[in-house]
Amino acid sequence: MTRVVKKYGGSSVADAKKLYAVARAIAAEHRAGNEVVAVLSAQGGGTNALLARAREIDPDCSGRELDALLATGEQCSVSLCAMALQRLAIPAVSLSGWQAGIETEEVHGSARIMRLSNDRIERELAAGRVVLVAGFQGLSPKGDITTLGRGGSDTTAVALAAFLKADRCQIFTDVDGVYDTDPNRYPDAVKYDRLSYDEMLTLARSGARVLHDRCVEFAKKYGVEIEVRSSFGSGEGTIVAAP
Ligand code: ASP
Ligand code: MG
Repeated sequence: MTRVVKKYGGSSVADAKKLYAVARAIAAEHRAGNEVVAVLSAQGGGTNALLARAREIDPDCSGRELDALLATGEQCSVSLCAMALQRLAIPAVSLSGWQAGIETEEVHGSARIMRLSNDRIERELAAGRVVLVAGFQGLSPKGDITTLGRGGSDTTAVALAAFLKADRCQIFTDVDGVYDTDPNRYPDAVKYDRLSYDEMLTLARSGARVLHDRCVEFAKKYGVEIEVRSSFGSGEGTIVAAP
């Protein structure tokens, strides 16, 4: 049996129609007999909207309460997607970061993932369910909700792929791979078929927003091969792997 981690970003789950399209893609993977863990971001613009609400209350907000608020965006996405899957007659369960056992450092706003502290995901997979995990969040050793920094759902996906020993880790986005410049702004941008971890890190640090740089560090450390692909197009995308 193949174990697949799929991650969908905010623009891919932005409304009900897109969530259903994601649910159908996940359903197809499940029907093919594979174990599926899907990590979702907050619906497009959702994290910024939560941030704006917090800043109305306190322009300098940060720390524990801000993390507790921001983590709700991803929780909405996974529960909505679980409902869509259930309507498609696919057994599915949504989990927040802490339900999934994602333990992080005791840091707010940019925590690193340390380990999986329980076997809930394994148990849900063994029961034949698709597992939807809220990205971008975890639980600190003290028991507080933490977030991983903007774009952090990519890191959730790669960390889960490493800890669950997944066969594949796919990051779906609104572009069909990694380009040398922004393909939405420069039509002559060139897509890479394959990049090493270090090449991808250089691109991520120089401002390519397609992958969170910490997810690439994590992938390098654990040898997770990442497939960056378009959410709804076909095409091969970009593989980020050891050279
Ligand atoms: N929702 C968070 C953000 O907007 C995390 C993510 O999408 O990866 O940064
Ligand atoms: Mg992103």
